[in-house]
Amino acid sequence: MDLSRIREDFPLIAGHPELVYLDSAATSQKPRRVLEALDRYYRELNANVHRGAYRLSVAATEAYEEARRRLARFLGAEEREIVFVRNTTEALNLVAYAWGLRNLKEGDEILVTEMEHHAGLVPWHLVAGLKGARIKAIPLTEEGRLDLSALDALLTERVKVVSLVHMSNVLGTINPVAEIAKKAKAAGALVVVDGAQSAPHLPVDVKALGVDFFALSGHKMLGPTGAGVLFGRYEVLEGMMPFLGGGEMIREVHVDRSTYAPPPGRFEAGTPPIAEAIALGEAAQYLMEVGMERVYAHDRALLDYALKRLAEVPDLRVYGPMGPDRGGVIPFTLGRLHPHDLATFLDGEGIAVRAGHHCAQPLHRKLGLAATARASFYLYNTFEEVDRFVEALLRIHTRYRAWL
Ligand code: PMP
Repeated sequence: MDLSRIREDFPLIAGHPELVYLDSAATSQKPRRVLEALDRYYRELNANVHRGAYRLSVAATEAYEEARRRLARFLGAEEREIVFVRNTTEALNLVAYAWGLRNLKEGDEILVTEMEHHAGLVPWHLVAGLKGARIKAIPLTEEGRLDLSALDALLTERVKVVSLVHMSNVLGTINPVAEIAKKAKAAGALVVVDGAQSAPHLPVDVKALGVDFFALSGHKMLGPTGAGVLFGRYEVLEGMMPFLGGGEMIREVHVDRSTYAPPPGRFEAGTPPIAEAIALGEAAQYLMEVGMERVYAHDRALLDYALKRLAEVPDLRVYGPMGPDRGGVIPFTLGRLHPHDLATFLDGEGIAVRAGHHCAQPLHRKLGLAATARASFYLYNTFEEVDRFVEALLRIHTRYRAWL
């Protein structure tokens, strides 16, 4: 991987050598090709999709459908299994409402994990509350892995959905989704995966994972905000009623009733985020050209180097599993310094990290912490930036030693 060439592709990175951006788990930077795809759509292709008989609209539709093909290749799915949504949050709400609301009943159970992002919990809370279903969680081990010894006992016949995060946005833990999905399917449950962190950072093949649904956010994988994907296994999508109703998703409409288009159109009501989806297709293409194996190997190399160097910082504590089942995310605390203060001090040194509960309050409760600071890596980060991060922490430690 030619790192200096990759950095040149990202205007915000190349144009700001003073900035060390370590918050890609929140949102990634965008390569020029993605920005150009957005611009090109509005300059050269701007028309609504799936509507016009005229050439411009046909060209816009073709670009939008090419983006769907690219995302299908990216995930190892079929084109008709790719639903464009706004983000992971919307994708998971779609599943909870369009599948859960119709299929769950009183006494059913939804199995989640203690490391879920709120997007993997709250939609189920809302739907379970309406249906009288119950939510329970696979617990975590001390190291921040799922305690799979509990899985068999948890997978009772009441469990109708297993909904879990592929890679934790806080701990970086990569969960053994294929193994869990196999057991969940054998127990008759639907398997829903939050791939917001895994899709940008790991090679993902939804068929090899054996899951029913897989959600991702384009903005975390070099794409623009406003476009994400829900992969749904076609047989499952085909049996579902729509989530949102309106234009485009219908077959036939009468004043008092309607029938619906086949998937994926059934789940794309109204004018979709056309420019954003096309630009997300460009982002997926960029990542495929770099190679997701390489992206992961680079994240992992930065993680290993950072974990080694962070051991030099006194009073620094790092959380999450220390084995190979982890991506490039480092939650940390420095003595008794509040993580928000720590992030502000790091910002003063030109280092952008995030602090807070990272939309994972149950996980932080489990860790016994109100908040953590979090550094996260991506394909444009360098070993030298890790050095700058560690050196900034050492300076902060010296400066605020009395408070620690
Ligand atoms: N799940 C995980 C694991 C995430 O990291 C995030 C983003 N922080 C989300 C879901 C939600 O993503 P979005 O806000 O793009 O819907």
